[in-house]
Amino acid sequence: MKVNMKANRINILSEAVANQIAAGEVVKRPANIVKELVENSIDAGATQVDVYISGAGKNTIIVSDNGCGMNSTDALMAFERHATSKISCFDDLYALMTNGFRGEALPSINSVASVTLKTSEEEDGIGTCVTFKDGRFESQEPCACKKGTKVQVDNIFSNIPVRRRFMKSDGIERKHVVETFLRIALVYPEVAFTLSNEGGVIYDLEPSSYRQRIAKVFGKQLDKQLVPVNFTSSLCNIEGFVGRPESAKAKAADHQMFFVNGRFMRHGYFHKAVLTAMDRLLSAGTQVPYFLYFNVNPEDIDVNVHPTKTEIKFDNEQAIFEMLVGAVREAVGGIPQVNDFCASSACIMPKMNMGNAVSMPKLPTNSSTSAPKVASMPECSMPVVPVTWENIQTSVAVPQEECLFAVPEVSLEVNGDAYIQFNAKYIIVNTNKGLMLVNQENAHERILFDEYRAKYANASEVDQLSLFDDYEVEENDDAETRMFNLALTRARREGVAEGQPLTSEEMKSIVNRLLECENMSYTPTGKRIFHLITGDSINELIRLAA
Ligand code: ADP
Ligand code: MG
Repeated sequence: MKVNMKANRINILSEAVANQIAAGEVVKRPANIVKELVENSIDAGATQVDVYISGAGKNTIIVSDNGCGMNSTDALMAFERHATSKISCFDDLYALMTNGFRGEALPSINSVASVTLKTSEEEDGIGTCVTFKDGRFESQEPCACKKGTKVQVDNIFSNIPVRRRFMKSDGIERKHVVETFLRIALVYPEVAFTLSNEGGVIYDLEPSSYRQRIAKVFGKQLDKQLVPVNFTSSLCNIEGFVGRPESAKAKAADHQMFFVNGRFMRHGYFHKAVLTAMDRLLSAGTQVPYFLYFNVNPEDIDVNVHPTKTEIKFDNEQAIFEMLVGAVREAVGGIPQVNDFCASSACIMPKMNMGNAVSMPKLPTNSSTSAPKVASMPECSMPVVPVTWENIQTSVAVPQEECLFAVPEVSLEVNGDAYIQFNAKYIIVNTNKGLMLVNQENAHERILFDEYRAKYANASEVDQLSLFDDYEVEENDDAETRMFNLALTRARREGVAEGQPLTSEEMKSIVNRLLECENMSYTPTGKRIFHLITGDSINELIRLAA
């Protein structure tokens, strides 16, 4: 091979080309442009945002708002790469409350289309108009403009034929625009939005509550099926709506949405939590609609994991999973709330270790609701109401699935070396907290699940890929969900089943490994693992029997 020694082969890319490459991440289709522009309007404090598209957005997109507007210097600055008024250092990312933050949207859009921006900070009707064509500055001049900003984007990808060809039919691109528009409109119900195209107005949404906005967008029929979800803890607040079991359908995905701190997100693991909560209430293969809004301390999530920012990593996913299961169950089943429940005779659980996940209260909690507050759980190891023969069923025999958030003071320890298997289903063992009844299948599932999770977390990326060879991976699942599913599948396949006789050694191993687990109370999908009968409640039973 002949190497050309003379010419330098490394070039610094021109700014226009660099912007086009960056645009590849942000701007793949008209809907991406709509998203960035509408988010900018929201960030600018707009109370009215109007979106117009023609040719499904391929020809023209106009977004106008009544937000704060820009002065003539900022109107031009906004098109510089990494120009943003929203963060100034990396740490700011973690305290992020606004939508945009990379300062990439306007220059990226600009590099793949023609852009006209009119903006004014003043009520006096005078503003600035800036125009760019295919990334090149054309003009800046004063113009008539109400307070706010209007951005018009024309002829997307006209300068990049490959990209233009990559766009789908008008029908598909329009569907993406509508979906994007609604994902924002549903999380800012206090903002008025319109979406229109050549044919006229598609959505005209006045300021309202979450519930009214959902009803307006999806219709009264769906609205009737929803029940409210409300949950407050020091880790997160969850509010929103979930469909009654009767509303379940085979295809519910269009009506299943999560939002966190004002943005739409996908979350396979939390989706699983909703399914788990509805577990025994639905026929196989059907799902309910849900619209669930999470509020967490911005420092507890990482929104920077994906360029289009719909997959979001939470610091405390396991704990929030369990809270979500509890919140949804309560909403659809009218199951007593944790506090009430623990105050009754029903709850004779010791405080359990759920790991550090629930130990640090961060968000201010809303004291007007009676939903559980993790850090201030009442001690629930002592029956408050005396056990009677009338309530003995609920007080002793039934595992207390709903007491999810107890935290230990003294750790649980096995006394002696006697393990008894009961009905080939439970292991009975004496502990410092009372008689412990362990469901062998659920316990082993938790143990193996934790082991696999730890193993996958440590595996290299290449090893991780090969892990999925014999496992059906759902296209939309993120890496976290896949690992969760794989670990769960393996744990269930390899664990001991109900009905399986166990030797004393095997029982000992299961109980002792369970006690090492960070969350020993529940299986990964929320099934109760064990139940404790305290000395007091045994005394009470004997006294009543006498
Ligand atoms: P980012 O939103 O990540 O900061 P953008 O490229 O989307 O980056 O916008 C750059 C800057 O332009 C923003 O930080 C903001 O100051 C300003 N800006 C953009 N759109 C608007 C708008 N509709 N109203 C007011 N200011 C805007
Ligand atoms: Mg932006």
